[in-house]
Amino acid sequence: MKIYNTMTRKKEEFVPIREGKVGIYVCGPTVYDFIHIGNARPMIVFDTLRRYLTYLGYEVNYVSNFTDVDDKIIKRANEEGVESTVISERYIAEVKKDMCSMNVQEATTHPKATEEIPDMIALVETLIEKGYAYEVNGTVYFRTRQFKEYGKLSHKNLDDLRSGNRSLKVSGEDEKEDGLDFVLWKPKKEGEPSWPSPWGEGRPGWHLECSCMSKKYIGDVIDIHAGGEDLIFPHHENEIAQSEAANGTEFARYWMHNAFLKINNEKMSKSLGNFFTVREISEKYPLQVIRFFMLSAHYRSPLNFSDDLVESAKNGLERIVTAYEKVAEAAGKATVSDMTAQETEYAAKIDEFLKKYEAAMDDDLNTADAISVVFELVKLLNTTVNADSSKAYCDKMATVFKQLCDILGIETVREQELLDEDIERLIEERQQARKNKDFARADEIRNSLLEQGIALEDTREGVKWKKI
Ligand code: AMP
Ligand code: ZN
Repeated sequence: MKIYNTMTRKKEEFVPIREGKVGIYVCGPTVYDFIHIGNARPMIVFDTLRRYLTYLGYEVNYVSNFTDVDDKIIKRANEEGVESTVISERYIAEVKKDMCSMNVQEATTHPKATEEIPDMIALVETLIEKGYAYEVNGTVYFRTRQFKEYGKLSHKNLDDLRSGNRSLKVSGEDEKEDGLDFVLWKPKKEGEPSWPSPWGEGRPGWHLECSCMSKKYIGDVIDIHAGGEDLIFPHHENEIAQSEAANGTEFARYWMHNAFLKINNEKMSKSLGNFFTVREISEKYPLQVIRFFMLSAHYRSPLNFSDDLVESAKNGLERIVTAYEKVAEAAGKATVSDMTAQETEYAAKIDEFLKKYEAAMDDDLNTADAISVVFELVKLLNTTVNADSSKAYCDKMATVFKQLCDILGIETVREQELLDEDIERLIEERQQARKNKDFARADEIRNSLLEQGIALEDTREGVKWKKI
């Protein structure tokens, strides 16, 4: 498989560090609110990369963090008058729900910054020992100029960066040795969460957590490091500086960055206010549609969000699901077992499509071309599968068809809507279970409904339910 490496700006053949194994680190969200569909793009894209590498036979160690200590979380906690952990735990649960509805598999490990503080402190200590960091009044800074290769990922020149940073230095950061230095550890402010450290009570800087967690859960050198393209500078540049300075070895072999999801040709972002949360969109479309929409473009091309494009993704997905239903039904009813000579020829075509699909995915995860191949297969299916088809042919078609969809994380079966009467029946059963003191069953029903987006509320007038 070839991967476009942001570091070399070239497509390169992917060669893992350890045979048969791949370690992937994807920078995850800051959990202070619901995620928007821009944040969903890297989740869907790199989940698809993981699925494809697994299909190729690799054992994938997929690590993606939750940034659960940050100014935005603290601000929100103060607004609501609760501890930061209440906010972060709430939104981690919500992000996980969204990920599940988008068929994004749980990471092998989802580390949280707040649970890795001792390792982060150790990393800062190493950097200080090696002369790459220094402390001033409880703040520890990274000595950027000391790391000679700084700027190699973003292809920025240190002197250009310096002139851009001059104004910063004037505006109060004059305790730094150099305007380019960035924070590794910051001292506690009133009302903020903090941890003890050799430099006093404080908390880690954002860049530090990824250097630390990737080392702990993957190793000093990781195969693939990924995230949205806004992270190239300064976040990934700083991660490289921290990790390579501390470990004395290359940090990541391949750097992959997805382009932005845009709206009216502007990046979708919280700060611009031009965003839709994944949760809002889920009220309009099944999130399968959003996943399919995201994969309909190559991950390095900007993608504009519009109702028209999402509608067309919805129709495309409908064609896929309908075709799969057709072949599944034909397989179930087939009376002839072996393929005819004609079917054997069609089966060879199926194999050709599979090769073409793999070629697209091997070409830097070209999901747009891979989806075109799925539609070619839909066409072949619709013209060759019928009531007279053999079981062998239907099975072959169904197996390959499903495989191609699975790699993209696309469900081939229609999402079953839970009908109101089913919900009422389950609530009744739960009431009965509670009467019988079978609380385990009662909880099981409540949790199963919750997983399907139905929340129960016990009120004086009885049990009420709502869709969430
Ligand atoms: P954040 O919580 O802002 O750090 O973002 C989490 C992830 O979403 C990062 O990998 C970002 O690069 C990515 N991201 C944020 N906005 C967009 C967008 N509009 N399009 C694509 N990716 C985005
Ligand atoms: Zn990161």
